[in-house]
Amino acid sequence: MSDDAALNNEGHGCHAGGDELRRAAEAAGKSDVLQRLATDYPTGPHDQPQTMCPAFGSLRVGLRMRRTASVLCGSACCVYGLSFTSHFYGARRSVGYVPFDSETLVTGKLFEDVREAVSQLAVPDQYDAIVVMNLCVPTASGVPLRLLPKTQNGVRVIGIDVPGFGVPTHAEAKDVLASAMLRYARGEAEQGPVQAPRGGRSAKPTVTLLGEMFPADPVGIGAMLEPLGLTTGPVVPTREWRELYAALDCAAVAAIHPYYTASIREFEQAGRAVVGSAPVGHDGTAAWLEAIGNACNVAPEKIAEAKNAFLPAISGALAQSPIKGTITVSGYEGSELLVARLLIESGAEVPYVGTAAPRTRWSDADREWLEAKGVMVQFRAALEQDKAAVDAVKPDLAIGTTPVVQHAKEQSIPALYFTNLISARPLMGPAGAGSLAQVVNAAMAGQARFDKMTAFFAGVGEGETAGVWDRQPTPRPAKPARKAGGAGGKR
Ligand code: SF4
Repeated sequence: MSDDAALNNEGHGCHAGGDELRRAAEAAGKSDVLQRLATDYPTGPHDQPQTMCPAFGSLRVGLRMRRTASVLCGSACCVYGLSFTSHFYGARRSVGYVPFDSETLVTGKLFEDVREAVSQLAVPDQYDAIVVMNLCVPTASGVPLRLLPKTQNGVRVIGIDVPGFGVPTHAEAKDVLASAMLRYARGEAEQGPVQAPRGGRSAKPTVTLLGEMFPADPVGIGAMLEPLGLTTGPVVPTREWRELYAALDCAAVAAIHPYYTASIREFEQAGRAVVGSAPVGHDGTAAWLEAIGNACNVAPEKIAEAKNAFLPAISGALAQSPIKGTITVSGYEGSELLVARLLIESGAEVPYVGTAAPRTRWSDADREWLEAKGVMVQFRAALEQDKAAVDAVKPDLAIGTTPVVQHAKEQSIPALYFTNLISARPLMGPAGAGSLAQVVNAAMAGQARFDKMTAFFAGVGEGETAGVWDRQPTPRPAKPARKAGGAGGKR
C-alpha cells in the first residue's frame, strides 16, 4: 500500500463512499477477498440494504462462542459502536481492540501490533481460538490478516475481512466467520482425529442446522427427525469449537437460514447434502421431512410415518390459533419467508415480504410457495420498499425492522418488531404452528387504542411541531419604532 493511500483511508468510514474504499482495497491487494465477497453476497437491486455495521454479525458469532477471543481491528468510532451494541445485546465477553493511527497504518506497524495482540492472547488454558476481524479501513488498506500464524501456542488464529463495503448485511457477516471456522475445522479433521462433541458422538446420523433459531426449535426438529432414524446435530454458528467437527460429521445439512452461502460451500466440499427451507406449518413440514428423508436415504415408509405423526398435530394447532387480517412482513434475520408461510397457513393475508437477505437457491422453495399464494417477495429489500409496501397495503399489522415499525405506528397501524417479538418464538413443527397467533392477534386488537392515541395527539410532532427545522429560520421584520409622545403606557 502506498503511504498516500493509507493516509487517505484513515478518515474513511461508512459515509466515505463504498466505491472509494473498494478501490483502495483493490489497490492494496485485496481484490481476491472482494471478489469472493461479491460472489457470495450479491447486492442489488440497490447497493446495500440499510443495516447496522455488517461486522456486528461476525463479532456476535465470535462473542457467543466459548473459549474464543474476538479482536477488532478498525477505526475507534467503529469499534465503539460495535462494542456498545454487543454489550447492549448481552455479550458476556470482552471485545479485543487493536487501535491504529496514520503512522502505524502507513508503516505496516499495525499488522505487527495485531500479531503482538494475538501472541499475548494465545493462552491455551483460556482459548481454543482467536478471531481477528478487519473492519473497513484496515481492509481497504490491505492489512494482511492472512499472514497471521495459523496457530499460536496451540491456539487457533483466524483472520477475516468484514468490511461494510463488501459484506452487505450483518446476517451475511455471520456466514463469513462461520465459514472460516468450518474451513479451519475441516482442515483439522482431514489431518487426523479431532475432539468429540461434549456429550460424545451421536449413535444416529445427524442433521446439522444452519442459522440461529429460537432455542426450542432444534428440540422440536429433533422430535420430528426421530421417526426417520435421525437426530439433530449442532446449530451453526456453533457455541463451541469442538461442535464444528460434529457439524461437519453429519448426514445432511438443513439450511434453515438460506443465506449462509460460504458455509454451505464448506459443507458441500465435505460431501454433505444440503436441504433448503424448514419444517414450518403443514406444507413446509411435509416437504422438509420428504427432502431430509431423501437426502439421508430414509425408506419412504419411514418418511410417511413421520408425516403421519406430525402433520395432523400441526394442522390442529394452526386451526386452533387462527389469524385473521392483512400483514406485511419485513426483516433482516433470514427467516422472513418462513414467518410469512406460517402466517398464511394460520389464515392471514400476506401481500408483501421484504428481506435484507439475498435470493439464493436455498430460498427458492419458500419463494415459490409464497409467490403461488400471490405474495410479493422482495430480496435485498430497501427500507423505502418496506415502507412503500406498508403505505400501499395499509395492513392490519406491519411486522418489520425498527424504522418500518415506527413508520407504521405513525399512521396508526399496529406493528411488531421482527427481531424481538417474532424471532423470539418457536417457528418449527407443532410447537411453532400456533406460536405467532397470540402476539399477532394481540397486536391487531390494539387498533382502537392506536386510533384513540392518534386522535389525542393529532398534529403533535408533525410539521412545525416536529422540532426539526427543514429550513433556516428567518428573522421577523422589525416592528416600526413608536413615535415619541404617542399613546404611552406606564414607565
Ligand atoms: S467498520 Fe462498520 S461502522 Fe466502521 S466504517 Fe465500516 S461499516 Fe461503518
